Amino acid sequence: MGSSHADGSAIAERHRSKHREATADTAFGGWIDGERRTDGPERGIEDPVIGESIVEVPQCDIGDVDGAVDAAWSAFEGGWTDASVRDRSKRLFEWADALADHVEELTLLECLDCGKPISQARGEVEGAIDTLEFYASAVRAHRGSEVPAGDDLHLYTTQEPYGVVGQIVPWNYPLWAAAWKLGPALAAGNACVLKPASDTPLSTIRAAQLSEGIFPDGVLNVVPGSGSDVGQAVAAHEDIRKVSFTGSTGVGSGVMHAAADRVAPVTMELGGKSPFIVFPDADLEKVVSAVADGIFYSTGEICDAFSRAIVHDSVADEFTERFVEAAESHVLGDPLDEVTTMGPLTSGEQLETVTGYIETGKGEAELLCGGGTPGNPALSAGHYVEPTVFRGVTNDTTIGSEEIFGPVQTIQTFEDYDEAIELANDTQYGLASGIGTESTSLVHRTADDLDAGLVYVNEYGPIMPDAPYGGFKQSGFGKDLGLEALEHYQRTKSVYVNLDEPEL
Ligand code: NAP
Ligand code: MG
Repeated sequence: MGSSHADGSAIAERHRSKHREATADTAFGGWIDGERRTDGPERGIEDPVIGESIVEVPQCDIGDVDGAVDAAWSAFEGGWTDASVRDRSKRLFEWADALADHVEELTLLECLDCGKPISQARGEVEGAIDTLEFYASAVRAHRGSEVPAGDDLHLYTTQEPYGVVGQIVPWNYPLWAAAWKLGPALAAGNACVLKPASDTPLSTIRAAQLSEGIFPDGVLNVVPGSGSDVGQAVAAHEDIRKVSFTGSTGVGSGVMHAAADRVAPVTMELGGKSPFIVFPDADLEKVVSAVADGIFYSTGEICDAFSRAIVHDSVADEFTERFVEAAESHVLGDPLDEVTTMGPLTSGEQLETVTGYIETGKGEAELLCGGGTPGNPALSAGHYVEPTVFRGVTNDTTIGSEEIFGPVQTIQTFEDYDEAIELANDTQYGLASGIGTESTSLVHRTADDLDAGLVYVNEYGPIMPDAPYGGFKQSGFGKDLGLEALEHYQRTKSVYVNLDEPEL
């Protein structure tokens, strides 16, 4: 396994200087009614590479959620609801342009806050901008419909925004996730109250500030604060008409309960334990890299991670050998270095969880590589964990069934097609799945049989805003992205216009 050569104190110095650079122009805090909210108890936002605070962020409380919801309704009723589609689209494009003018600043914030390799952070910021542009375009082409109903009736449907919607996002791809929710919601004409994850709010706060003067005040609000407090308040707020949540299945289920009390609709993007089936004819070079990208991208902190490789017996040895090589070739180091391919986990809590799973795995299966924290002393202050591979895993083990959310791969084998499908679908989750084969027929047959909302063939991703994204079973329901997300942020009205006979 590679590692960068800088020593620990050089990395720490460099990061402290980057903290100053990244936060120099900004006072972080809530963004409510077009203004910064800079009072409130402060929370240090940790840089997971050096375990030090990047900046202190004043936290919102329940009263701020009330304030944000009031501001959002005032903005909605004070004009946003009547803004033309063209106007909303233009403003979204303007916001996307403003973010594009600050790509490097946002990238640096995301890299420092999450510990993501800088090239991945940049890709996600660009993905966020692309998402906003997609919705700015898509909404212009959005249509209601006319329902043929005979000569006496003109029956048609229209789409309307909900009013004020609430959005709760996780810490693993903060700005991108926020754009997945804000893009369609704003395009559809809603006003938004978004709660970023407590650990990684910086890029989203900055992006909201960059909307100043673009959207009317109150249309876009960001309320950083704790999940149990601010998140719960968003989920339960009487005046929030729809809630979109991305995060863990357990918390998502609680959000659904809170929304159910007032019969508010919800969209849920939850956890995963995604399988990748490697068939005997697979191009192993391509497929090993697809599965490795799938589990090691973002240090495995990604909901659609291919955490279960299900490999045909006949190619299992070769796959495993190449996969371990791919795992060991990762360069763990300072995410600010372009050569680093794997950064730390995002928090100390996450490090504890992942290393706990690895220890459990050692008693359940055969450890092939990794299995601990890297020996490089320069990385000892960060939440690093080695890319880890287990073989001989079964679906009834802890590491074979629970979402680890770290760079931990399990490899299991199958003998025939039915067994592969059974193993793949034998999970409470159904977010993503993957197929490695050169056979077109097998691709279609398998894609049809996999019980998951996403199927990637011979590749991991890409995730495009053009297509709906979301899971089956306990991975959630409703969709982010695609035209579907635009529809989820709208209510459909059927209008029956009864027509009299002309009396001319
Ligand atoms: P999490 O603990 O469920 O947190 C997600 C968000 O919910 C955070 O903003 C969190 O705030 C907030 N929250 C916590 N408790 C809450 C409550 N009682 N009421 C309302 N909101 C509350 O999830 P996570 O650990 O941050 O994220 C990892 C999980 O997200 C994984 O399971 C992963 O698979 C899933 N995920 C799914 C997708 C997808 O698209 N399907 C994408 C990314 C992640 P705090 O930050 O303050 O705790
Ligand atoms: Mg952080």
